[in-house]
Amino acid sequence: PSPAPARLDLDGNPVAPLTICMIGAGGFIGSHLCEKLMAETAHVVLAVDVYCDKIRHLVDPAPPHLAGRISFHRLNIKNDSRLEGLIKMADLTINLAAICTPADYNTRPLDTIYSNFIDALPVVKYCSENNKRLIHFSTCEVYGKTIGSFLPKDHPLRKEPEFYVLKEDESPCIFGPIVKQRWSYACAKQLIERLIFAEGAENGLEFTIVRPFNWIGPRMDFIPGVDGPSEGVPRVLACFSNNLLRGEPLKLVDGGQSQRTFVYIKDAIEAVVLMIENPARANGHIFNVGNPSNEVTVRELAQMMTEVYANVSGEAPLDEPMIDVSSSQFYGEGYDDSDKRIPDMTIINKQLGWNPKTPLKDLLETTLTYQHKTYKEAVKRQMSQASAS
Ligand code: NAD
Ligand code: UDP
Repeated sequence: PSPAPARLDLDGNPVAPLTICMIGAGGFIGSHLCEKLMAETAHVVLAVDVYCDKIRHLVDPAPPHLAGRISFHRLNIKNDSRLEGLIKMADLTINLAAICTPADYNTRPLDTIYSNFIDALPVVKYCSENNKRLIHFSTCEVYGKTIGSFLPKDHPLRKEPEFYVLKEDESPCIFGPIVKQRWSYACAKQLIERLIFAEGAENGLEFTIVRPFNWIGPRMDFIPGVDGPSEGVPRVLACFSNNLLRGEPLKLVDGGQSQRTFVYIKDAIEAVVLMIENPARANGHIFNVGNPSNEVTVRELAQMMTEVYANVSGEAPLDEPMIDVSSSQFYGEGYDDSDKRIPDMTIINKQLGWNPKTPLKDLLETTLTYQHKTYKEAVKRQMSQASAS
């Protein structure tokens, strides 16, 4: 095969091929990042995860044109001495590994805190000790609730951007009380961010922190009972997809009034590639990565997904396509919610010139077409088996 064309960074300098240790490479974001790096760059990926279903097409076995470019290392970073060797072998480590589904935060708070803080510690330490660059995946959830959410419901200041726009270097992190265990995840992520920042300040660690704002697209999470546990509760895209595939109403938690901004995974991956290839512009920064133009309430998301799914599947929507459920019914005690998430884009725009492109409607069309094609038959089979038994 012909060699990949030379890549240039944002300052016009050639980008040398890197070896990247990608931890959590078998997940939703990791699978898209591996695909992008294989298709468009000459970088080498050491893909670390406990499972590889979402990157099987790249690693099991690697297709001939990718020989030597990507290898899969099945290991649990909690307890595997091979981790340090892989980090030493690489120029850059990207850590995506985490428990990151809200249904786990209040029901498995210990696993959540261990996964997002304790298990990430050795990764930070090995990078710092071996002078290796680290791109760490945090979350928009570290912002918690907006300042405006504490004002009375109809207060005019709620409409002022300074009361809700989330800025990396200025906004506070506002979490609920300890009994609201929802915040165990955000708090663990905040502490690992502070530790990484301190390693940078005191020991010179070269780091970039990414705060994803609801990245969505194909391969996100699982469809319960098909490629994940029947009782499992994935993130909202997969929950609503599952309801649509089964012809059941979409469940709106506590009225579906919370607001989110959704960004297409392929847009967001472009931002990560810019971070990888422009260390001088990305090091020492925390970046919001989201699409402020794609804001909806969860109820509006449910409406849009119902309409789009009817178009892509040819199935008429239900007469009552949504039902309300309380958060204690749906998630159990200790659930709480972020009210609104608008990312400020100034820093990523200035440092990397990145902007999201895909409108919500378009990304839902692509994603629900994928969900329908990938899962419809399996869901039908599973439903008929369940009704026969
Ligand atoms: P994901 O669950 O699909 O991927 C995480 C991967 O990490 C999984 O494949 C999992 O097997 C692996 N992993 C977890 N613990 C591990 C361990 N101990 N050893 C080895 N592998 C382990 O989630 P994702 O959506 O791809 O998210 C990746 C990162 O981005 C996470 O850190 C998450 O907190 C962050 N994030 C994502 C979003 C989003 O919108 N998708 C939003 C906020 C934050
Ligand atoms: N949600 C919902 N119904 C579902 C799943 C989620 O109403 O079946 C809501 C959830 O309460 C939250 C929003 O959708 O307000 C987004 O949830 P997600 O799991 O994607 O994660 P979050 O954005 O909270 O991190």
